Amino acid sequence: MMNKLKKLCFIIAALPIVVLLASQVLPKQKVATIAEPVSAIEARARELASLTAGEDGIDNSWALWLINAKNPLPYGYLPELRSIGVLEFDSRAAVYALLMIMEARNAGVTLTPVSAYRSVERQSANFESFYNNALNEGYSPAEAFELTVANIAVPYASEHNAGLAIDFNTVEEEFDQTDEFNWLSDNARKFGFIMRYPENALETTGIIYEPWHFRFVGLYHAKQIYNSGLTLEEYIGYCRGDNTAVDAFRERFEKSF
Ligand SMILES: [Zn+2]
Repeated sequence: MMNKLKKLCFIIAALPIVVLLASQVLPKQKVATIAEPVSAIEARARELASLTAGEDGIDNSWALWLINAKNPLPYGYLPELRSIGVLEFDSRAAVYALLMIMEARNAGVTLTPVSAYRSVERQSANFESFYNNALNEGYSPAEAFELTVANIAVPYASEHNAGLAIDFNTVEEEFDQTDEFNWLSDNARKFGFIMRYPENALETTGIIYEPWHFRFVGLYHAKQIYNSGLTLEEYIGYCRGDNTAVDAFRERFEKSF
C-alpha cells in the first residue's frame, strides 16, 4: 500500500516535469503553458541524478530485466509508451531519458536519440534487411544469418522492443570517439542507464560492441553495474548467485592485464 502511494506521489510529482521537458523537445505549439521556471526543472534533474537506491521513493527494480536471445519478451508484449521527442519510450522510464538529454544539453552536449522503442514488425524488417545485405555481399545463407544475429536482435529479443533502450547520434563504432559518448560514459548511470554492449563482450551478451546503445536498468542497478564493470548478463547472474557469469568475467578481466 505504501509502495503504491509512493509510486502515485512520484507520478503526480513527475507529471509537470515530463510536460515541461516535453516542451523543450516537442514543437512549441503542443505545450500551451509553462508554470514552472526552467531552473526548477534543472534542480529536479540534479536531484534525481544524485539519488541512489530507494531515495527517489520509487522501486524501479522492475527495470532490471534481462532481454536477449535466450530471454525474449513474452510473445505479444507491448509496453505502455510515452513520447520522448519524436520517439517513444517505456512510460516508466521516459522521464529519466528526458532528464538525461536535458542535463547533457546543459553541459553543452547534444544527445540525439535515433532509435528508442521499436515495434516487433520493425525489428523483423530490420533483421530481413541486414540479412539480405549480407547475402548480397556474398555470404552464404547460414553465414548471413549468424552475422545478422550478432548485429540485429531477433524479434522479441531486442531491448528496443521493450522500449527500454536508446541508440544515440550515430550508430557506428566511431561514436566512442565523440564528446557525446564521453558524456554518456561519465553520466548515464546517474539517470539509470548503462552502456549495454561493451567491447569484447560478444560471448556474454551475444551482441557486438555498440557504444551508441544505452539501456535503462534503474538508478540503483545502473550504478552497481557501472562500478562492477559487469555486463547485464553477468550482473544478473551475480545477483542470482550464479558464479558462471562472474567466472567468465574474471577470465576476460585477467586477460586484460
Ligand atoms: Zn540499440
